[in-house]
Amino acid sequence: MKDIYKATEEVIEGNLDYTITYGKQDEIGRFIHGFDLMRDHLKKSIEHQQQYERARKQLIASISHDLRTPLASIKGYVEGLEDGIAKTEDMQKKYLRVIRSKTDQLDRLIEDLFEFSKFELEQLSIDKALVNSQDFFMDVYQNAKLDHQNEGIDLDLAGQPPSVSLMIDSGRIKQVMANLIDNAVKYEGKKIVLNVEKKGGQLLVSIRDNGLGIKEEDRPFIFNAFFRGEKSRSRESGGTGLGLAIVKYIIEAHGGEISVKSEPEKGSEFIFTLPLYVNQRDGLH
Ligand code: ADP
Repeated sequence: MKDIYKATEEVIEGNLDYTITYGKQDEIGRFIHGFDLMRDHLKKSIEHQQQYERARKQLIASISHDLRTPLASIKGYVEGLEDGIAKTEDMQKKYLRVIRSKTDQLDRLIEDLFEFSKFELEQLSIDKALVNSQDFFMDVYQNAKLDHQNEGIDLDLAGQPPSVSLMIDSGRIKQVMANLIDNAVKYEGKKIVLNVEKKGGQLLVSIRDNGLGIKEEDRPFIFNAFFRGEKSRSRESGGTGLGLAIVKYIIEAHGGEISVKSEPEKGSEFIFTLPLYVNQRDGLH
């Protein structure tokens, strides 16, 4: 009993490593076992909380940095224009182009953060409806082709997508596709191939590029929020490290999975699955 009392005091004082040794399997033994389980649970949950706090602090530091960098650059170019440093019309246009691209970068950053905070608050809505996979992916492909038509990118569809029913949030899956294709372009893919096929009870969607690729040691982390490979390079390209975290969340909210295969300097392939819609009444896909 004295030992139990001592253990309780230790826990109250914050020592969550104090264990009681008691050999017998009687009533008191069971009680001590329960006490120990509680102590362990408390310890884990405090550790979890501390980890979360650390991540939060890191997050705030990285957000401030990422907002400040393009802002500082915009300020510099605006001052340059005001002071008449950009003398020729060509130079003024160049300054304005930089300002434009930096404001776009800020816009993307804020949009990503907004989406991310919604998903952290579990408020990222997913409104599913029935769609035909062929119509949907043809539409996505054609839009992506338009979006990237002036960038010297060769975007292809490996074959006609299969025609099956999907129960998805079209807007969100479009967002996933746009994000994966934009990444393929951003990380220097010049040839991008989309492939959609039916496998088992699932639809398999792949986006393959011949860009920079992802180092093996980075691969396990790329779906984590705020992770960016090759920090400086990714920063310059205006990334937040949130895109893939949001993509993963959306795919999982649809009952699918996402994975990546990649070889540095050769390219990457992102593959995700979506369950086929099964009509409960007659089992038709
Ligand atoms: P970011 O905003 O940095 O692009 P993401 O969450 O979209 O954030 O991606 C996380 C990291 O994964 C990127 O910083 C980059 O290093 C790597 N990555 C993602 N897609 C690709 C790709 N297609 N090719 C090479 N690297 C990629």
